[in-house]
Amino acid sequence: MKIGIDIDNVIANTFHELSDRFNDFMGRQMEPLEVIETMRNNKLKMWAYWFTAWKEGMLSSVSAIDGSADTIREWYPYHEIKLVTSRMPIFRNQTIHWLKKHSIPYHELHHAKEKTKHTKAQDLELFIEDNFEESEILADYCDRVFLFDHPWNRRPSSKKNIIRVKNWEEIKSFL
Ligand SMILES: [Mg+2]
Repeated sequence: MKIGIDIDNVIANTFHELSDRFNDFMGRQMEPLEVIETMRNNKLKMWAYWFTAWKEGMLSSVSAIDGSADTIREWYPYHEIKLVTSRMPIFRNQTIHWLKKHSIPYHELHHAKEKTKHTKAQDLELFIEDNFEESEILADYCDRVFLFDHPWNRRPSSKKNIIRVKNWEEIKSFL
């Protein structure tokens, strides 16, 4: 099977572990949905944030989400694993090192801007993603999309091939 997998908040605990740093940088406490909106709309401030994150290697410090690394290692000999992240390409080296550090194997690693991941997912049978809008688009290109449950994506979808999943145990049980 060809499987596409997002990185942040699907295999890396990014939001959970970096939200305090993010709020410090922005100068106030934000709710998860507000963080997502800020990331989308406040481009200038986000550039400054990502530059700082890159310089300080912030993404290198995050842990892997329970069960993600083990599951991907189990799948790797039998399935084609395509990692598709909306991280900017400047994070590529840090991302490769992080994946190596956590012994997460993959066949391909792609960077794609938000809402364009489908360009890397044309022939995939499954995609695992936590971004609601991205999942809605991916559902038109992939047989099935697993939406990794988080506070920022709790909205009903009209797409029948989007399945909400709570953790990697559940993902494994579907395959
Ligand atoms: Mg994500």
